[in-house]
Amino acid sequence: MKQAICHRCGQPTVEGLCPKCTLEVTRLASCPDVVEVVICSVCGSRQIKGRWQLPDSSSAEDLAYQAAEEAISLHEDLADPHIEIDLRKIGATRYQADIDIQGIFRGQSASEHCGIPIRIKMVACERCSRMAGKYFESTVQLRANAARSMTKKEIDECKKIARDMADSGYRGGDNLSFIQEIKEVKGGLDIILGSTQLGRRMARAIMERYGGKLLETAKLVGKKDSRDVYRSTLLVRFPRLKRGDIVSYRGSLYSVAGFVGKTTLITSLREGRRCSMSEESSETVEVLGNKSDAKAATVISEDEDVLEIMDPDTYQTALAARPRDLPVKPGEEVMVVRTADGFIVL
Ligand SMILES: [Zn+2]
Ligand SMILES: [Zn+2]
Repeated sequence: MKQAICHRCGQPTVEGLCPKCTLEVTRLASCPDVVEVVICSVCGSRQIKGRWQLPDSSSAEDLAYQAAEEAISLHEDLADPHIEIDLRKIGATRYQADIDIQGIFRGQSASEHCGIPIRIKMVACERCSRMAGKYFESTVQLRANAARSMTKKEIDECKKIARDMADSGYRGGDNLSFIQEIKEVKGGLDIILGSTQLGRRMARAIMERYGGKLLETAKLVGKKDSRDVYRSTLLVRFPRLKRGDIVSYRGSLYSVAGFVGKTTLITSLREGRRCSMSEESSETVEVLGNKSDAKAATVISEDEDVLEIMDPDTYQTALAARPRDLPVKPGEEVMVVRTADGFIVL
């Protein structure tokens, strides 16, 4: 077999350049001339390949370090690479990353050194600039029924649902998933949002929880990039009934368990039997109280049909119909709801 000669150094080789020359002429890593790191000065989020990442607690220095790390591309034959980055701040918005790379290249240990200047560019991200510019696309209007106003609890819960949904939408990658403002207004709550998509999801989630009716309207507000821009209003009209309401329906007591569309789901207090009630009945059925107002009352005496209890507010004795088969003895407590017609034992 003919012995080949390395044409660079003249030493014997198997083929082409000898391993030593190959290593000398190969760039084990390539580093860009400069790396620009775009950071939002408001929320600290970093833009990567045109997309804004979720901000975390990283400092500008952390992000510069990350950017340097990402900017290095290694030769595919470099095995077991070990990269050391020495980052120095050289100006208000400038860093210098000195990079040492070690590894094994085709069986020989090898090293490479390069330096990357890093420039930090501070801008406002899309989300922050829209928020600062009072941008909004959608208003979710929550309004009570003619028969009742929204309760404090409902208002607080809806605010929480709104915040949680805007948050998870943003974490899911929707930059416009933000709340511009939450306003308590006469008759309910206005939630002003960055995107209609978020508004629709929010209105749906609130209706699943509280029932009611949805009316969506849109208004043309202008053009952007030759496309029509609309603002939507999603009006959710709460139903008369709310979860936990105790109603007298067809001779039995029920509590409201939830809503499906226009139908109210109810559960009988005694047997736990589930059934549903039409929209018409929901508008007219008698509401006696709400389970969330239940209080513990001590049983003083009992017979088959009636419990004598101590009124939890006045400490006077009072009578309440005894639910059939309720196993309770004097001295024990039962949960009761006060109504205009006396107590209901749950
Ligand atoms: Zn050679
Ligand atoms: Zn931002």
